[in-house]
Amino acid sequence: MAMPMRQSVRLGAYLMKQKIKRVDKFPLLVELEPLFACNLKCNGCGKIQQPAALLKQRMPVEQAVGAIMESGAPMVSIAGGEPLMHPQIEQIVQELLDRNKIVFLCTNAVLLPKHIHKFSPHKNFAWMVHIDGLRERHDASVSKDGVFDQAVAAIEQAKKLGFRVNTNTTFFDTDTPQDVIDVLDFLNDDLGVDNMQISPGYAYEKAPDQEHWLGVEQTRELFRKAFDGGRRKKWRLNHSPVFLDFLEGKVDLNCTAWAIPSYSLLGWQKPCYLLDDGYVSTYRELIDETDWDAFGRGKDERCANCMAHCGYEPSAVFATMGSLRESLRAATGS
Ligand code: SF4
Ligand code: SF4
Repeated sequence: MAMPMRQSVRLGAYLMKQKIKRVDKFPLLVELEPLFACNLKCNGCGKIQQPAALLKQRMPVEQAVGAIMESGAPMVSIAGGEPLMHPQIEQIVQELLDRNKIVFLCTNAVLLPKHIHKFSPHKNFAWMVHIDGLRERHDASVSKDGVFDQAVAAIEQAKKLGFRVNTNTTFFDTDTPQDVIDVLDFLNDDLGVDNMQISPGYAYEKAPDQEHWLGVEQTRELFRKAFDGGRRKKWRLNHSPVFLDFLEGKVDLNCTAWAIPSYSLLGWQKPCYLLDDGYVSTYRELIDETDWDAFGRGKDERCANCMAHCGYEPSAVFATMGSLRESLRAATGS
């Protein structure tokens, strides 16, 4: 099944508006990082390696909201670090909802029970809980025992209170197709989360574990086998069918990282969330000062193994919206 209808309709209207205005580069979703600090120390994390002085900083509410409004993006994914460690996180969320943004709040869920009373269910708001596998695999990924059980309990609590809850799962070269199937079956059928997002792991330069990232062929084989037999249709995946085809190697796409940019305490990151070629202070500068043709597989060696959501999901959305057949597939989840 494809992304939720509300999200697709909002995106469709937004894309139409950009087309009418003849804007060729615009954001679909901003990855907003209002802090880098976290209560966990995951092996694959490229954020918590920042200098101590930066880890202590928290982005002011006005700065976070101002950046999103300047960009014009209809969707915001608030990550970090652990956003629940930001003392005004509920204000940032509310200000964005008041401005009609679709907001995903990414969390490892450990602090969720302590802070959930500060939030209310909203049609444009969803928790995005980081779950990298079943109990043993997830706890190994976050380098701490007991976190999987805490995350599952927090998801159940949030669902009971009426929140939308999505999950985000990153796969590494130690995962088998059966691992993918087992975790998605669990999230979809047993836990009943609203939507699930999946990502092939990418080697951040700052991540301490540089050994277990997936290459392009490995990624394609992993997802081809996991999706085999039409299995992917039964999972409530928060991705367009074209992006899933891309993960399986059925189609290839060009990187359009300008459509899922990252804004953090350091500014707008060039050219994307995964690379670190400097920062600028506005989205406009990011667009104007980046040589977008220099990035993507075959162009920059750092992009060679990248099949990440931030570079290729927008390309899949553009392919979907530009084709009647793909739009019908997205609407029916086929
Ligand atoms: S929970 Fe997220 S931000 Fe925190 S250490 Fe893990 S990957 Fe990094
Ligand atoms: S291919 Fe990946 S790493 Fe390279 S610019 Fe695009 S999103 Fe960033």
